[in-house]
Amino acid sequence: MIITYIGLGSNLGDSKEILTEAVAKLATLGAVKTSKLYQSPPMGPQDQPDYFNAVVQLSTDLAPLALLDQLQRFEQEAGRVRLRHWGERTLDLDLLIYGDQHIQNERLTVPHVGVLEREFVVLPLLDLDPHLDVKGQKLQDLALVQQASLAVCADADWATL
Ligand code: ATP
Ligand code: CA
Ligand code: CA
Repeated sequence: MIITYIGLGSNLGDSKEILTEAVAKLATLGAVKTSKLYQSPPMGPQDQPDYFNAVVQLSTDLAPLALLDQLQRFEQEAGRVRLRHWGERTLDLDLLIYGDQHIQNERLTVPHVGVLEREFVVLPLLDLDPHLDVKGQKLQDLALVQQASLAVCADADWATL
């Protein structure tokens, strides 16, 4: 069993409902734990709604590409349409961390590029494991954690139905 972390984002449709549904789908792949739910301003184009973000810790037996296939299937099922780079979407599921593996191929870069840089990824990761270490860097020591200004909109039980 590998411990993985999946980043969730949504800024179109009923985002809370879509993310709750996504957690239920992830739970079909293995045991899940959810971070708090956050709201954050968009990256990239600014003329789009704020995002709802969270991270799920998923313990699974799926291989990395098989897991990515499932994540992309769930995005499709949520009606994701690609409009523009970093544009609005009903559901984004990023494979942030896969055990301690480093993966680099056509479809997958793991750890995900945003893991040390994006507040809406780092803070929910720390909810799930305050001692998490990525690429030799303790997340809790990152400068952005001290300066964090992310809005918490729900406690870690937000996805329980
Ligand atoms: P970002 O990756 O910067 O967060 P994004 O989530 O908007 O941007 P997408 O359009 O969702 O990017 O994905 C583009 C491609 O990224 C996917 O087709 C996928 O193959 C690739 N990809 C590479 N590494 C990962 C990863 N760790 N998790 C999910 N997708 C990945
Ligand atoms: Ca993303
Ligand atoms: Ca993505």
